Amino acid sequence: MRLNELKPPADRFMPKPRFIWPQGHRVAAMICFDVDGETTALSEDAGLARRRTLMSQCEYGPCTGVPRLLGLLEHLEVPASFFVPGYIAEKHPRMVEAIVAGGHEIGLHGYLHEKLATLSEAEEEAILVRSIEILTRLTGSRPTGFRAPWFEINPWTPELLLRHGLTYCASEMGDDVPYFHANGLVEIPGQWMLEDWEQFAFSADPAWGFVPENCAKVFDLWWREFEAMRDFGCCFVLTLHPWLSGRPSRVRLLEDLIVAMREKGGVWFARGREIAAYCRNHPQARRSIDFDAVEMNSRNLVTP
Ligand SMILES: [Zn+2]
Repeated sequence: MRLNELKPPADRFMPKPRFIWPQGHRVAAMICFDVDGETTALSEDAGLARRRTLMSQCEYGPCTGVPRLLGLLEHLEVPASFFVPGYIAEKHPRMVEAIVAGGHEIGLHGYLHEKLATLSEAEEEAILVRSIEILTRLTGSRPTGFRAPWFEINPWTPELLLRHGLTYCASEMGDDVPYFHANGLVEIPGQWMLEDWEQFAFSADPAWGFVPENCAKVFDLWWREFEAMRDFGCCFVLTLHPWLSGRPSRVRLLEDLIVAMREKGGVWFARGREIAAYCRNHPQARRSIDFDAVEMNSRNLVTP
């Protein structure tokens, strides 16, 4: 499964690391699971609830994918961040308990996986408040992280998150290391290439995804990005959906990837809240490469 690497040139391009990670680690790795479950369909059209096969495919995530993935994480002793819509947390409280018992973080992901771009600020805030209440009640602690449904936030979202006690957002794609929003909220950016939806999702009606990819190709895609991110001192944010990545061959793919990352060495496997805390405590850790940056440590020229 490992790549036949071309021999890199002796004078290979090796820029200074983008980020100074703790304990001499060269790269951070945040393994995320967006547990959309039934909301994948219901947020699109409540009428899809009668489509039993479609709904069962969505239920596979919380019911079969999550327990299997929790087993793998325990086996590998790797912490992860689970972003769970409030509706899914209420519907699957034992799953929430198991995620917490495994030592993982649970962050916000809307109530019914709402597209934030369709909401007013007041509507978005009401959903945020409701979701915080649900997760706090079910997990026993207040969530500190947020992943926007569909990876899309509004201009006012960072302010809402800060107002309600969140410390980080993991929804933008403006860099490959964390940065600060203007109000001091930490952003841990992702990217579509490190997402399983684009690789594995498929539904004929509603039309989701394309032809599911071969795991060997996906390993190659993710491994190449990891290796280069390790060279460049980045933050490897992998976003997986249990209804997709909980399928057997993809659990093996994740195992192979994490084991290979470990063997390569220098990887800080961390939950979102730990990355955010580190950023807040070490605001000088980020090396800016923005053309218009004045300060070295802040994308938006504000030091929290
Ligand atoms: Zn989602």
